[in-house]
Amino acid sequence: MNQQNDSHRARKRFGQNFLHDQQVIQRIVSSLRAKPGDRIVEIGPGLGALTQPLIDIVGKIDVVEIDRDLVARLQQHYSPEVMTIHSHDALKFDFHTLVTTGEKLRIIGNLPYNISTPLLFHLMEQLDVVQDIHCMLQKEVVERMAAKPGDSAYGRLSIMLQYHCDVVKLFNVGPGAFHPAPKVDSAVARLTPHTTKPTHVNDEKIFSKVVNQAFSQRRKTLRNCLKTLLSAEQIESCNIDPTARPETLSLSDFAKLSNITVDSPDISK
Ligand code: SAM
Repeated sequence: MNQQNDSHRARKRFGQNFLHDQQVIQRIVSSLRAKPGDRIVEIGPGLGALTQPLIDIVGKIDVVEIDRDLVARLQQHYSPEVMTIHSHDALKFDFHTLVTTGEKLRIIGNLPYNISTPLLFHLMEQLDVVQDIHCMLQKEVVERMAAKPGDSAYGRLSIMLQYHCDVVKLFNVGPGAFHPAPKVDSAVARLTPHTTKPTHVNDEKIFSKVVNQAFSQRRKTLRNCLKTLLSAEQIESCNIDPTARPETLSLSDFAKLSNITVDSPDISK
């Protein structure tokens, strides 16, 4: 679809910044190392910048697009033989509906930045049908996703995503690659679901609660942040210093803390 002279007006509420830089488009597509027959699902195909080169490789693609005007354009431009269009909000989309026995999906998206975190968490709930995820997001978000203990960007997003996936930042993309140009830098990340989780967690809901609470007040010590859940003695029993800052703890430290946290009405909220 013609992107430059196109009458579609980018909608801010749908986070529409369309890629037009062919080198960047090629770099993103190459990073997938896609092969014919791969089950690729693109979230937010927009005007098709990534979609067409992907179809050229794999033959047929599924797309999930919320903007009905864009859906109508896609329907005009692409035949059902090469594209199955799901006119849907990706935040509510059940990716299981796309798979038959044993298949895994390869998800790709230049994602709307305004919904990036909830969308990633929505995808984390459906990883049993996902081979990998390649996504472009605001650079700072990608840095938080891939950060390691001690990094300034390390926090809840790093821990929760890295519990489920191997997260790698691939490369940065400047604002000039998009139309309209966003105010921020972007980066591309690859998330590959772990076949075996890197650490044992008894209850993922409690784990999530402990991580949330630990990072609720960044400058505070662990003992202070977690005081409604765990005593200093309990934290120490995991060989963790209660006066440590949460951003110094590893994924397995958080797993240990969550595994000694007892479920309570507070946690189930
Ligand atoms: N893939 C195109 C590109 O790279 O040029 C468009 C990227 S644009 C940043 C984001 C796309 O996601 C737009 O097409 C937008 O309409 C779509 N979108 C926004 N929110 C969505 C949602 N909740 N579910 C599905 N698509 C969404």
